[in-house]
Amino acid sequence: MAKYSGPVCKLCRREGEKLFLKGQRCYTQKCSFERRGYPPGEHGRDAQFRRRRVSDYSRQLREKQKTRRVYGVSERQFRRYYREALKKRGLTGENLLQLLERRLDNVVYRLGFSESRAEGRMLVTHGHFNVNGRRTDVPSMLVREGDVIEVREGSRTRPYFKDLKALAETRTAPAWLERQIPKLSGRVVQLPERTDVDASINETLIIEYYSR
Ligand code: SF4
Repeated sequence: MAKYSGPVCKLCRREGEKLFLKGQRCYTQKCSFERRGYPPGEHGRDAQFRRRRVSDYSRQLREKQKTRRVYGVSERQFRRYYREALKKRGLTGENLLQLLERRLDNVVYRLGFSESRAEGRMLVTHGHFNVNGRRTDVPSMLVREGDVIEVREGSRTRPYFKDLKALAETRTAPAWLERQIPKLSGRVVQLPERTDVDASINETLIIEYYSR
């Protein structure tokens, strides 16, 4: 995937809401959105005072972009998830969110083993995790019911992982994941449902965007 490598906080400002892409920093006064909650760019500050009629297309596009940015997924990959969601039984929007939630980098984040999805992605890419006992370095891998995700034995002595238990204690894991902090591991007890995913995402708008 072509990874976005520009300023991350600009993405929140562009979407007009906090997307929590930077871990702990997002909860402090250092958050750019707290200080400059208007769109980036030369005329960004003026835009917040301008009253514009927002078209349906614009709302659909922004919702799609926001969700894509939250999960750190490229346009191509996101569209692929949409196609896969279409083929599955049930509501396409919910299927799409379930596919995004099942990504390994998201699971690492949800288990509280990384501060953000981007960090989860980096940890997975560097091969610090086993899935069902096998080293896995593919962040887009989709977990299945019953899968066990754990920090590899060789990685536990590294400084980052020494403090990880304390970080994980501060976070709550969703109901579809069962975790064992002392063992730095987690298990997928069931596939995520709509209620497990951030309520602020309006998946209907995303589906409308792709069905135009
Ligand atoms: Fe967004 Fe976090 Fe940056 Fe704030 S600190 S603008 S929430 S990424």
